[in-house]
Amino acid sequence: MDFKKIDKILETAPSFRRAQVKRFIFKNLIEDWEEATSLSKDLRALMSSKFSLNIEHQRSESKENNTTKELITLEDGFQIETVLMRHEDGRNTVCVSSQVGCALGCDFCATGKLGFFRNLTANEIVMQVLLFNRLLKKEGKQVTNVVYMGMGEPMLNYENVINSIHFMNNKDVFGLGARKFSISTAGVVEGIKKLIKEPMEINLAVSIHAPNDKLRTALMPINKKWNLKQLFTAIDEYIAKTNRRVMLEYTLIKNVNDSLIEAAQLKELARNKLCFINLITYNKTKFYAPPSSAVVKRFADYLEKHRVAFTFRQRFGHDIAAACGQLARKKK
Ligand code: SF4
Repeated sequence: MDFKKIDKILETAPSFRRAQVKRFIFKNLIEDWEEATSLSKDLRALMSSKFSLNIEHQRSESKENNTTKELITLEDGFQIETVLMRHEDGRNTVCVSSQVGCALGCDFCATGKLGFFRNLTANEIVMQVLLFNRLLKKEGKQVTNVVYMGMGEPMLNYENVINSIHFMNNKDVFGLGARKFSISTAGVVEGIKKLIKEPMEINLAVSIHAPNDKLRTALMPINKKWNLKQLFTAIDEYIAKTNRRVMLEYTLIKNVNDSLIEAAQLKELARNKLCFINLITYNKTKFYAPPSSAVVKRFADYLEKHRVAFTFRQRFGHDIAAACGQLARKKK
């Protein structure tokens, strides 16, 4: 789906006609040009011959009914996964993929095991949100938040990621406010520096997952390029320049990073910073397992006792392999 093509197809048409056609795609969320009844028959025929609205996808629903995963087949045959999370407070968050596969090879992540194939275009990112907006429309709802936490490292596809945000922020598209977008990075410092200069107020999340360099390098090879000191210098700079709170993601993995020693190291990293920790319990893969609930509680109690701001991330879609670290498709 190349949205720029619309202007080209309609280059001789008056501008109100182009706006009307776009409204059908992004606001009325039509899936077939025949639904665009206020367009002339000829225009409907022209659009259906030149601009397909079809998104090839396969849907899975979680048992709890709060998570939907879509497997999307792209035009070149690659497949990506994208996830809708329905929060109890009414938010509908889409976790979008930004790349096919990922080059960063985090040891606990199914996407990382695939290797890297290619960046997604801005249109392919927007298409993931469009697909869920079509689904939610049937329930009288819409996507309220977009997080770049699916397959891939968004900071390594920075231009397309930012372009997709600008596009979805446009009131004629989804009109989602800048603060409704969060970019999550495994620690690409040069990406954080670019985001600091971005005029839009986009949220930053950083995957920490290990509070010392030795463990982090073993789990996340990117730590060899930018270690924790360099990463936190960039986080401090982001906070100083933007005055926005940064989310530090920490996935608890059984017997890897779940002891009180790591809790104390994490506390030191987060101390006196405008940030909060998002604690996540690892979703079982064949590589690692989640800690017991007693161990999770011990870790959380330590943070609480030392007044470190944290939240537990609600678990979504682990039964359909839609949770963090479980997304992995790339078939061509
Ligand atoms: S956790 Fe993120 S950055 Fe790391 S390999 Fe997986 S997709 Fe890539």
